Amino acid sequence: MGLQVIPEQEVAFGQITSVIEASQQIAICAHTSPDGDAIGSGLALGMIIETAWPHKQVTNLLADDAPVPRIYNFLPGASKMVPASRYAGSPDLFISVDLSVDARLNKALPVLGRSRRHVIIDHHPCETHTGEAFVIRPQAAAVGVIVTEYALHLGVRLTRPIAQCLFCAIVTDTGRFQYQNADPESFQAASLLVDAGASPAEVSLNVYQSFSLAYLHLESAVMSRVTTFAGGKIAYSYATIEDLRRTGASLDECDGLIDEVRSVRGSEIALFLKEVPGRKVRGNLRSKTNWDVSKVASELGGGGHAAAAGFTVEGDLDEVLATVLPKLRDLVDVPDWRDATGSLV
Ligand code: 5GP
Ligand code: MN
Repeated sequence: MGLQVIPEQEVAFGQITSVIEASQQIAICAHTSPDGDAIGSGLALGMIIETAWPHKQVTNLLADDAPVPRIYNFLPGASKMVPASRYAGSPDLFISVDLSVDARLNKALPVLGRSRRHVIIDHHPCETHTGEAFVIRPQAAAVGVIVTEYALHLGVRLTRPIAQCLFCAIVTDTGRFQYQNADPESFQAASLLVDAGASPAEVSLNVYQSFSLAYLHLESAVMSRVTTFAGGKIAYSYATIEDLRRTGASLDECDGLIDEVRSVRGSEIALFLKEVPGRKVRGNLRSKTNWDVSKVASELGGGGHAAAAGFTVEGDLDEVLATVLPKLRDLVDVPDWRDATGSLV
């Protein structure tokens, strides 16, 4: 069985296509601190548009000044990505990928301000946004799934580079097809992409089997500190700026550390905190069951999905732990006569 066509999405794809057709200069950008879905689906979308409309000028922007995270720079086209702060253009169209909240565009926000039109392709729950045409489908495991379907909608052939980027997007956002969002649609899209030439082994080699020794030393420090509370339901750990200095690991290498924290037996919620320059702390939250951690992330000015959310707050580690841990305890602290979602059983 192949990918099912979703009628409402086909209508939205048609609207997106009309906007693209009416635009010449197109900028594509994903969220700050980009992950595999952000980079992979943005690059693939760029290649799909260039294939369907060879005369359009497409630029893949990075929201931050930092280069493409090392584990994703093997992706076709990654070396051509441009930091938004160095992009002086005023595009006809700005396509937000893997984000609906403009504030998460960081240094690309002024580029959006200079753009004539705005399209969004995303899978984060969102109530208000500024896209005139959009597909925002929280049920989609990754934006990579939606972009795969857009290529099929357009009839654009999935070349090996396009397939590799999209496969990487889906693998990373589903935690290697292990998180709650790993559904039939994501497997079907993945199957199609592997058929089109994506290499699971190459993606895995670069993303999951190429850690620096510095990172492994950091990981061992983070693992040695994992703590559980609330009867073992909540697990957390953290990395300090001093840890990074001592081990030589870089900030963007910390992205996988939350997966170590979530691996604790019996834990239902995982929290990983890292100190970032400017007396700020970045938090990753994950839920392994039905708890909605996006509520806690939103209260802290962040957001995300029920099962995976993030936030950045001011303060030092102790202060942030003192704020976040009680919120997590409150989340899981429901009487026994309610089920895991808080509803009456
Ligand atoms: P991560 O913890 O891997 O950075 O993010 C988990 C999920 O939450 C991702 O889908 C990410 O896009 C989203 N997310 C992370 N941080 C923020 C934030 O500050 N604001 C919003 N709206 N979403 C976030
Ligand atoms: Mn995503």
